[in-house]
Amino acid sequence: MTTFPFSTATPPEWAGPPPAEADVAVIGGGVIGVMTALHLAQAGLRAVLIEKGRIAGEQSSRNWGWIRVQGRDPAEIPIAMEAQDQWQALSRETNDALGLRQTGVAYIARSEDDMARHEAWLPHARAHGVGSRMLSRAEIMERIPDARGDWMGALWTATDMRAEPWIAVPALARLAARAGAQIVENCAVRGLDLEAGRVAGVITEAGRIKVGGAVVAGGAWSSLFLRRHGVSIPQLSVRCTALATEPLPEVFDGAASDGTIAFRRREDGGYNLAVSGFQELFIGPDAFRAFRTYLPLLTQDPLGTKFRLSAPPGYPDGWRTPRRWAMDGPSPFEKHRILDPQPNMAKVRDILERFHTRFPDLPKPKLKKAWAGMIDTMPDVVPVVDHAHAIPGLVVATGMSGHGFGIGPAFGRIAADLVQGKAPGHDLSRFRLQRFSDGSPIDVALDV
Ligand SMILES: Cc1cc2nc3c(=O)[nH]c(=O)nc-3n(C[C@H](O)[C@H](O)[C@H](O)COP(=O)(O)OP(=O)(O)OC[C@H]3O[C@@H](n4cnc5c(N)ncnc54)[C@H](O)[C@@H]3O)c2cc1C
Repeated sequence: MTTFPFSTATPPEWAGPPPAEADVAVIGGGVIGVMTALHLAQAGLRAVLIEKGRIAGEQSSRNWGWIRVQGRDPAEIPIAMEAQDQWQALSRETNDALGLRQTGVAYIARSEDDMARHEAWLPHARAHGVGSRMLSRAEIMERIPDARGDWMGALWTATDMRAEPWIAVPALARLAARAGAQIVENCAVRGLDLEAGRVAGVITEAGRIKVGGAVVAGGAWSSLFLRRHGVSIPQLSVRCTALATEPLPEVFDGAASDGTIAFRRREDGGYNLAVSGFQELFIGPDAFRAFRTYLPLLTQDPLGTKFRLSAPPGYPDGWRTPRRWAMDGPSPFEKHRILDPQPNMAKVRDILERFHTRFPDLPKPKLKKAWAGMIDTMPDVVPVVDHAHAIPGLVVATGMSGHGFGIGPAFGRIAADLVQGKAPGHDLSRFRLQRFSDGSPIDVALDV
């Protein structure tokens, strides 16, 4: 049983050792790596999934558990829709073990501007046959009658979902193992072994694995890993704090955010709470280097990101984190098995207070657990899912920019197809790796 939201108290489920040979190595056991491995195994390939710490030990167990098409960048909508179809099939395959519920997502508006911004996204939904619509104040209050305050209406997608991440992703890993994928935890991949410039193996701390291809799904560590091989992506990560309350009377069974508080009903009767748009950036060498690339994003929400002077030791963008290392000695990945940032406790108290102000007739929410995660993001807030053309045999699936849990099953399927040389089934030009180096302007994802 996986503890909540993540704990190293239980022994690793997948102790290894890694095989000497596989068809494809998947680097990183978050939702993207797990789903890539599952799809590769289902396609009959020998997939090995290598995780430096624990399956879903980082972002993939720490997220809010929202699975939404609502508000997605237009290029992501069909992929998010595919992901939702997969979630439903996966839920059936696991006998409802993922906590998947189709309870809808509401973006609640508190001003005419909010209403207009949310409404502007609706044509994209309609273009793909998604039944999102605007709710009036009366309609949102009918759905969440205990709320007090200044709500004017909401953008609402009844088909959006929620699931329990710290249960779901390990359950999906078990599915991948049953399909034939080999999973190894506590095993860092130090780098790639290239022959004539193409992927011929991966070097792990437990030895070399001969492979025909590799997928980098390393979350917040991907850019550090890739730069060691000359592939540069302007990826940064930000600390986001979240919390779970003890069980409370139900005020709403879906997920909602009004810009002051985000809440999502959990299977155990509590709520996951957070504030959307509040994140903390630890300034390091990568942040310095990428500052200009991030200016369009930072100017869009100048107050949302709080800057912190430096990351704790060993973080991907730490000042002292090595950018180069030898393949026959410890790499930064095995030195820092699980990125486990401390939550911002002042923000935790603030979030509990905000929820209480919004729902004053409920018993005061009691904190069950607070945690934080480092969200990896790209300057345009959409992922990189592409071949690394400079290194044949290498596929990159990273930079999920805060929404990789929901969309993960589809990007996992796509990464698995790319590394097999198959057509991905969607237009991936928005997610190409070279968009940051070919002179394209930074096109920040539509933010509703
Ligand atoms: C607080 C919070 C709230 C969020 N809310 C939502 C939400 O509601 N809905 C949503 O869709 N998304 C949400 N997200 C984002 C979502 O969790 C991430 O986009 C998603 O989990 C990313 O998955 P991943 O597999 O790319 O990365 P991760 O889950 O970070 O996994 C990457 C893994 O790679 C491993 N790794 C890295 N380098 C190596 C190496 N060299 N060798 C071996 N292993 C390596 C790491 O240890 C890690 O386990 C949220 C994130 C956070 C932190």
